[in-house]
Amino acid sequence: ATPVSIMVGSGKAAQLGVLFRTGAALEGLGRANVIALDKTGTVTQGRPEVTDVVLAEGSPLDRDELLRLTAAAESSSEHPLARAIERAALLLPLPSRERAGVRGKVSDDPAQSFAATDFQAIPGYGLRATVEGRRLEVGAARFMAQLGLSLGALETQANALAERSRTPVFVAVDGVLSGLIGVADPVRAGSAQAIRTLQSQGAEVALITGDARATAQAVAAEVGVSRVLAEVLPEGKADAVAELQAGGRTVAFVGDGINDAPALARADVGVAIGTGTDVAVETADVILMSGDLRGVPNAVALSRATLRNIR
Ligand code: ADP
Ligand code: MG
Repeated sequence: ATPVSIMVGSGKAAQLGVLFRTGAALEGLGRANVIALDKTGTVTQGRPEVTDVVLAEGSPLDRDELLRLTAAAESSSEHPLARAIERAALLLPLPSRERAGVRGKVSDDPAQSFAATDFQAIPGYGLRATVEGRRLEVGAARFMAQLGLSLGALETQANALAERSRTPVFVAVDGVLSGLIGVADPVRAGSAQAIRTLQSQGAEVALITGDARATAQAVAAEVGVSRVLAEVLPEGKADAVAELQAGGRTVAFVGDGINDAPALARADVGVAIGTGTDVAVETADVILMSGDLRGVPNAVALSRATLRNIR
């Protein structure tokens, strides 16, 4: 591209809230045959909420206690799921917060009762922590499998949640699978329309996520995506992009930067969606100012118009 046409393209782009960081990005996006979308925070709002608390048969805890202990374990985690579980526990009535193990030191400030020790995050799986002398392991089904815990009757419940696009978070207490917390992260208003437009522009749209396969497939069905790469470990998202590049296809990856900086870097064109993190802004070739996914087909159209101009 000549500098002038890049400037023209970039001027229109600015009006649309799209920032192309290089001329190569402005040219490259329109050539992408695959648009890979991160799920959490990109296709979805990234503001998950607890919707269900399910006890395992014979659990010694009640539902409030399970939620309360899990929230304490999650209090040191940076994961969006942790924030959802913490917020839900803050809504519990005070007596159940007491019962759940803050004996003798309950204050009116619920945050003070969120105490865990030995916290350890296990990226892509979940976490471990000790809460009031109890050892908690919290996370995905594959984490429970790794611990040698069978899901038993909770598996059916988890599948039912996943079919409704919810993420099942399993909770083991002292090595016993004790329950399941369902977390919903609704899709953004513009996602389905953005994806339809991208497909009508001729691109294949794929979804990449660390979330459970069944949950990812339900979200994909909601927004009309058929290619799903699920249960991808954080360090595997770049490999997932490479998989889509097979056969010389040009892949644009759209992410919010949480867990996906390597994928943004690996893609032919990395697109950071607004409200993203600083790291996304640094790694991306294209930055969408708004959180609306419809910025992606707009940017593709702009890129193609610019390419036509300079030929
Ligand atoms: P993504 O950001 O695509 O959802 P992650 O790699 O961050 O993927 O997480 C993958 C899965 O690991 C989550 O869907 C969840 O099941 C589990 N997990 C990770 N961190 C936590 C956590 N702090 N609490 C509960 N589950 C977690
Ligand atoms: Mg994300």
